Amino acid sequence: MAREDSEGASPKGKKSGRKTATKDNEAAAAPPPPPINPAARAHRRKSQFVANPAGGGPSLVWVDRLIEGDPVAKLLENAQKWDFDMFEFNKVTQGHPIVCMVLHQVKVNNLDDYLPINFANLTRYLLSLEDGYKDVPFHNKLHGADAAHGMTFFMMQPKVTAHLSKVDLYACILAAAMHDFEHPGVNNAFLVNSRHETALLYNDQSVLESFHVSRAWKLLLSAPNLDVFEGFTQDQYRDARATMIHTILGTDMKFHFDHLTKFKTRANANAFDEPEKKDVWLLLAMCLHAADVSNPAKPWKLSMQWTARVMEEFFQQGEQETEKGLTVSAFMDRATTNIAKCQVGFINFLIKPFFEEWTNFLGDECVKTLFSNVESNVAVWEKEGEEALGDKLAALKTIPAPKSPTGAPGAAPGAALGASPAPTAPTSST
Ligand SMILES: [Zn+2]
Repeated sequence: MAREDSEGASPKGKKSGRKTATKDNEAAAAPPPPPINPAARAHRRKSQFVANPAGGGPSLVWVDRLIEGDPVAKLLENAQKWDFDMFEFNKVTQGHPIVCMVLHQVKVNNLDDYLPINFANLTRYLLSLEDGYKDVPFHNKLHGADAAHGMTFFMMQPKVTAHLSKVDLYACILAAAMHDFEHPGVNNAFLVNSRHETALLYNDQSVLESFHVSRAWKLLLSAPNLDVFEGFTQDQYRDARATMIHTILGTDMKFHFDHLTKFKTRANANAFDEPEKKDVWLLLAMCLHAADVSNPAKPWKLSMQWTARVMEEFFQQGEQETEKGLTVSAFMDRATTNIAKCQVGFINFLIKPFFEEWTNFLGDECVKTLFSNVESNVAVWEKEGEEALGDKLAALKTIPAPKSPTGAPGAAPGAALGASPAPTAPTSST
């Protein structure tokens, strides 16, 4: 897919590759960013985000201005904290949460002091990457940015960061941003069961994860001025690529218990005191998987919003399964699924044991914030049931009207939910 349209464009003039404007994209149509806050300018070490004129293409100075402007700079003061509000961030960044989060994390961790980072290439790449995230309810650019935030949070924990190289840090902030690139809003089982060509291409093995990393890498190599590793040595490039492939493929949920078991075994053997390369990769895979499934470990206000989004995506998949004559997957039937019970099961069976082990390893601070959030959130679902979703519940429970023979959504009452475009599976990974 051609992505030149997003290169160097201003937020106002930026052409969206998506089909329909949704809530998340409304921000992109907001007025241009305000002038640079003088206070933020004072903290600027150097002109890192401005396009290198020698690199050609339109100026990217607007990205500088956006990040250093008042609302974004103010929110970014909390970017190293766990309770960072990604929904608010999407609004103030005018629909550029991935671009602003990744550039900030690279800068604030001084990675350009150690690596030959070309910020113009990095900015262009992130704009294109962000543009490739589809407007599906959950696996969209907000989730990509949230994973980049969570990944950095975990990598900065003392028990992890002590063992990471600068290449690891840079590669894995990027890996998190890439990890659901072009996600179609349906899961691996759907692609396998519907005999989708992408499932055929990857032989039913980690279909989406293979697709994301392959597509994100093809984008990276599609033009010299998108090469975020320009200037890296061959060894650094090989190292970064291998680490990124490993961590992104590790986000396949089928490895959840495998990772947890291996992690417990290695932690019990004190292997992370002086880890071998394979242990560092295991730590990084744990970091990205933890960031990926961390919604129940967020404060309730954020956690509930993520839950509404993921359930809407599940239900839309269930509706596609019905249309295709497939068995509707567990928890994906809008009419019969109790969202609160689904969450309680998901948290107690998968999330709680994982975060208990993971936060115990990371230390008291993480136990106090993340694990206690898991416990209090599950208590809310148990006590309040689906009513805990508040005004989001009605939309989740509205059955979309059947589609007409032409595929157009029917009239109300299903029209409200039908307004979201049905996710389309990837057409090809070549
Ligand atoms: Zn994800």
